Amino acid sequence: MKGILFILCAWAFTVEAQTRWTEDLLLTPEKSNFSKTSTHAEVMAFLKAIESKSSEVYLTSMGKSPEGKDIPVAVLSRPKITTATEAKASGKVIVYIQGNIHAGEVEGKESVMMLMRDILLGSKKHLLDNQIILFAPIYNTDSNDKMAAGKRPSQEDSPLEIGDRENSQGYDLNRDGVKMETPETNGLFTTIIGPWDPHVFVDLHTTNGTWHAWNLTWAPSYHYAGEKSTYDYTITMLKGITETVKKKYDLNFGPYGDYDVREAWPPKNFYTYNHHPRYLVNQFSLRNRIGILSEAFAHERFYQRIFSTYSFALEILEHTNTQSKEIQRITKEADAKTIQTVTAEAGKAKKGVRYKMVPLEQLNNFPTYDYVSYTKADGSPGYYRTGNMISVDGVTYHAKFDAEVESTLPKGYIIPAAFSAVAENLKRHGVVVTLLTKSTTKEVEVFEVSKLEKAQRKFEGHFMARVNGKFVTKKQKFAKGDYVVELAQPLGNLAFYLLEPESDDGYITWNFFDEYLEKQGVNTKPVMYPVVKYVK
Ligand SMILES: [Zn+2]
Repeated sequence: MKGILFILCAWAFTVEAQTRWTEDLLLTPEKSNFSKTSTHAEVMAFLKAIESKSSEVYLTSMGKSPEGKDIPVAVLSRPKITTATEAKASGKVIVYIQGNIHAGEVEGKESVMMLMRDILLGSKKHLLDNQIILFAPIYNTDSNDKMAAGKRPSQEDSPLEIGDRENSQGYDLNRDGVKMETPETNGLFTTIIGPWDPHVFVDLHTTNGTWHAWNLTWAPSYHYAGEKSTYDYTITMLKGITETVKKKYDLNFGPYGDYDVREAWPPKNFYTYNHHPRYLVNQFSLRNRIGILSEAFAHERFYQRIFSTYSFALEILEHTNTQSKEIQRITKEADAKTIQTVTAEAGKAKKGVRYKMVPLEQLNNFPTYDYVSYTKADGSPGYYRTGNMISVDGVTYHAKFDAEVESTLPKGYIIPAAFSAVAENLKRHGVVVTLLTKSTTKEVEVFEVSKLEKAQRKFEGHFMARVNGKFVTKKQKFAKGDYVVELAQPLGNLAFYLLEPESDDGYITWNFFDEYLEKQGVNTKPVMYPVVKYVK
């Protein structure tokens, strides 16, 4: 009997061992006791290895980085598809998840590869029942490989070495969503976001900020000038996932933000980040899609941050898989509403173009590491952090955006032919731009710029600009070949936000019109903003 039992156990053990991955599917953190993160070459080797073992993955690329590295995208589907047309015809929700936009925040990169393994070869095969998943594990390829120690001290030197935040041109890829000055942003929008039009966009980061005590924090795409329905849906979804991860994995997730110890202790306020569409996630509410920001908690160890990020992305995919039809309905209705609002209310309806952050709600049971105050030698107050976790009630969460300046929604815009850079940028965003086929005279609303203000300091290579002035009604002549943007289109809200002169994150902000306005003498007299709008 003993002998048989021994044989049975040995057999069971062998079978169990065989059900796991072959070594070529192990990730760099797993092979290094979580002291290292994957290089670009290691990511590419993993993708090739898993492609050779699964018939449900198609490897493509969104283009090349400034240093010529491929930016890989893996399309997971059953049956396997290779084109956006097939994806759209499938009737399934399309979900895009990317890691490593900031190459010091590497948890998303590893988590995405773990998910691929589980979905294609492991226990999560059901996640391809109702959805098509696009994974971009290593969005910022070049800077990933510029690994060195000590770049993000908040991460406890875990992993030991990481890459740079910016891309290899020195741009922050998560501030490039409007101006599109990097090959990465251009590749993402023209090869993935445009053609595949994912219903859900997820950007995986790691915060290096506040010592709240959540394992991971999230934020939706802030709604501002977009359709509110996608925002409302996202909030409900994120709150549901927060409950699920607590039950399933005992992980504590919460909304994204920062507090300032010097403002008050215990904290009275918790602030999210800005609403601007230069942040990729924020652009998705202007596109009538669902955008989700994920921020792992920097101060945990690498393996813990990976687990939190993995669990969040997994539960997003569990949700999208079961809610495939509902998400498609919500986004389709938001597209229709954008068009309908312009058709029915152009010239009357107003939308915000400049926003300020205001309180959204009170947070109770807010978890945070505790601080102790002391008096410095010079008499000023100081604080040091302890390892004690406390729970604070009545913390005001600032995560709503109210319009400070509104503008009338037009039927469309006319852009003079000379401003082809603006028209090209709109097209790369996916906005439909047509040409005037003959010269015409039209009554239009023109913005008379009385003042052009520019920032004193450069941000992302720009002295950011804003204008003051007022709209005046004029009859104006337009030439054949001028650009026309009809706002009754799914990306109408995005075009509005980019083209409105007073927008806080539009083309004026990013200096597309400085040269023209300055040449016209804007500093000495009022000058007309060359993009005009029409309501009839
Ligand atoms: Zn980041």
